[in-house]
Amino acid sequence: MADDHVLVVGAGHAAGQLAASLRQGGHAGAVTLVGEEPIAPYQRPPLSKKYLAGELDAARLLLKPESFYAEANVNLRLGRRVQTVDVATKSVALDDGSRAEWDKLVFATGSRVRTLGVPGESLPGVHYLRTAADVDAIRGEFATSKRLVIVGGGYIGLEVAAVAVAHDIDVHLVEAQSRLLSRVVSPDISDFYHRAHSEAGVHIHLDCSVSGFEGAERVSAALLDDGGRLEADLVIIGIGVLPNVELARDAGLDCDNGILVDGYCKTSHNDIYAIGDCCNHPNPVLGRRLRLESVPNALEQAKAVAATLNGTPTEYAQVPWFWSDQYDLKLQIVGLTDGYDQTVVRGDLHSRQFACFYLKQGRLIAVDAVNSPREFLFSKPAVAAGARIPADVLSDPGQSLKDAAQTWPA
Ligand code: NDP
Repeated sequence: MADDHVLVVGAGHAAGQLAASLRQGGHAGAVTLVGEEPIAPYQRPPLSKKYLAGELDAARLLLKPESFYAEANVNLRLGRRVQTVDVATKSVALDDGSRAEWDKLVFATGSRVRTLGVPGESLPGVHYLRTAADVDAIRGEFATSKRLVIVGGGYIGLEVAAVAVAHDIDVHLVEAQSRLLSRVVSPDISDFYHRAHSEAGVHIHLDCSVSGFEGAERVSAALLDDGGRLEADLVIIGIGVLPNVELARDAGLDCDNGILVDGYCKTSHNDIYAIGDCCNHPNPVLGRRLRLESVPNALEQAKAVAATLNGTPTEYAQVPWFWSDQYDLKLQIVGLTDGYDQTVVRGDLHSRQFACFYLKQGRLIAVDAVNSPREFLFSKPAVAAGARIPADVLSDPGQSLKDAAQTWPA
């Protein structure tokens, strides 16, 4: 096992962590990462924040300096695509016509943007935001843009809106749902973010979708499905992502909203694993299967698989968590809110610092903490334990949550 050739399809966050953890854990065999983008594994979270704002240069996006891969003897094959996976011969075919054999294969293929599929989408000035190259292209246009239309009121759309208003750009945001961040937070938190963005000058259009774009040489307007028209010299679309599973499915692996894996991130083939956005795993903490689009998930799954491949079988069993930076607001989310029957707010939803706790039958299942790192830190183990903490304790900033955790264990 220690001499196995581990071939990783993908060279993103999960793949980079896997390579580093394999070497840290003493893996002596060859490690190869094949990635379509021309750069070494890098962090995506800053793309819609500091990198877009021009406050971070490309070198600082990298997970590890490029020299790391040479020193750690990790073979990076960048700007290359795996075309097919042959499980019978345990090999892959690359788009340069070469083949590579593997002993263990790891899918870290991530996800790709959902596209609108409307007329005018390919006009210059209309962008999706997923890669560093996407942001490089947007940044060049940001400086001269006066009017930005953002499609999608999820993380990408809202983080971009916050950066754009700081650049004195007039921002219109179009969201298909009746509230912002509807996939991840409760209506109260959606309202809070609606207020924060409106106060900052973002014009928000809910229950609305874009039916096309107008323009001659570049985009000049977004057409709305309610008949409206928003002038624009720049458009950024963030309407979600789709997992990259086609290669795995064509290789015969079981897939259903992601590549299906067991508790060890092992797929339906004994020598093939999947990690990160592309993988659908059984989560023992939540008691169900899920596919997560989150950096902490990618990193922890990578570490678990590296440990397993290095000889210590390691189950992946973490509470999901996420974060988002918009203006001076640091949102930290623990757990998933589905099925909650009660919310309790600690602090004031009209201030810029509070935590919203989500309970299901009295147990804590999720928390949205805004500028509240202490509540966030408390919540990770509390959600993992499904702790029962009385609502009057949660809601009272005068009462210590630390004490509560000791007094009311799961
Ligand atoms: P999200 O899924 O977070 O949000 C997309 C939003 O756009 C949804 O509310 C969606 O509604 C809406 N939408 C869909 N279709 C349309 C349409 N035609 N017109 C208007 N609105 C529409 O995706 P993002 O693109 O914001 O983010 C992509 C990925 O990047 C996600 O995995 C996200 O987690 C990740 N990310 C994470 C960050 C973080 O953790 N801080 C920061 C940035 C990105 P509906 O539900 O109806 O489809």
